[in-house]
Amino acid sequence: MGRLRIEPIPVLNLYFNKTLPDIPEEYVTLLKSRYDLSFVEMPESRLTHGVTALSVAASDVYALREPVGRGARISKQEQIREDHLVGHDIVTELGRYVPFDPGKAWGDEESDIDWDKTSLQPNTEHQLFINEVGSEAYRPETHYGQRAPNLFFAGDFCDTTINITTVEAAVVSGLQAAQGVCAREGAEQIRIIEPAKYPRSVASALKLLLGPYAYGAKGWSMAYDAAARLEGAVSPDYRDVAQFVGRASLAALMSDVRLWWRRTGALAESAFEIGRALQATIANSERRAAGQGTLLDAVRAFFRRVAELPADESRRLQAALDKIAEQVWPAQPGRPHRRRWNAKR
Ligand SMILES: Cc1cc2nc3c(=O)[nH]c(=O)nc-3n(C[C@H](O)[C@H](O)[C@H](O)COP(=O)(O)OP(=O)(O)OC[C@H]3O[C@@H](n4cnc5c(N)ncnc54)[C@H](O)[C@@H]3O)c2cc1C
Repeated sequence: MGRLRIEPIPVLNLYFNKTLPDIPEEYVTLLKSRYDLSFVEMPESRLTHGVTALSVAASDVYALREPVGRGARISKQEQIREDHLVGHDIVTELGRYVPFDPGKAWGDEESDIDWDKTSLQPNTEHQLFINEVGSEAYRPETHYGQRAPNLFFAGDFCDTTINITTVEAAVVSGLQAAQGVCAREGAEQIRIIEPAKYPRSVASALKLLLGPYAYGAKGWSMAYDAAARLEGAVSPDYRDVAQFVGRASLAALMSDVRLWWRRTGALAESAFEIGRALQATIANSERRAAGQGTLLDAVRAFFRRVAELPADESRRLQAALDKIAEQVWPAQPGRPHRRRWNAKR
């Protein structure tokens, strides 16, 4: 169990002195944020006092300035000062995503924040189990039957049917441990109602089928990042060209992925028809000639579809490129649209 890891996840209880518009009800993850921020609204504050309050969690504690919650090794006063520095770093980062004024420092009265109510919980004393890759093998079972009849574990780190670090996992681990006690005592067994889930075989089949998409998605995200970097790196004179190149490259990549997907789809559909025709041919020897004709038709139809796909995809890509060009170089009144990427000589 010493191989299992825990980490603190500092949480900022952030109260504003106004209502922020368009805050979703759901948990929100701020993609690519420093400190891996996520937040959820605490709606009671808006409903009872008309001001927004957010619970903001920083999952990447190591990205925060050192040291978070050094606890006993520094004075209480120093601790408060450090919490305020960390808290304001989080507020500032949040301000890059959500429109509000974070102020220049913790306590800045010009900001949109109610500092009296706002507080940082470093959570150093309440660390969360990290179910990282490779940890599964070391998670304890809730009970070991006759091998260790007096040993029971409960907590979100146990090997349960839930297997993610949540309250639900902790509750189920307790119930499983209780089942172990019942079994040992020969008492009436308790029943755990398990959430509905797809059978493992379906998940495995989907994993196999969709596997190539993982590469497509990875390629897409790398191209997206590269396009953003390219746009930021070039001089303002060529920014529109860089923007076009970036977006056009993405469209071309998407087109390739789509073509592959449509081919796979055509193959799947045709395989079904070809299979049926083949079965009919084998099953009915009297109508073998007719069956072979149907089979041939199905095979030819498949290859015809496959042959037509690139032309169709090419038209779609061309239309997408035209649209991007229109967005990058919008036609201005009285001036014809400039097709700068394909000027005729
Ligand atoms: C910021 C944050 C947000 C989260 N959000 C969600 C969420 O939205 N939904 C969700 O389902 N889960 C969430 N979780 C996870 C959830 O809180 C935990 O998975 C769950 O609380 C684990 O329950 P547990 O009983 O295993 O452990 P804990 O809740 O940690 O309980 C263990 C208890 O044991 C006590 N203890 C420790 N050592 C000793 C000792 N030696 N002697 C006596 N007592 C001891 C501790 O003080 C603690 O009270 C979140 C966690 C964090 C940190």
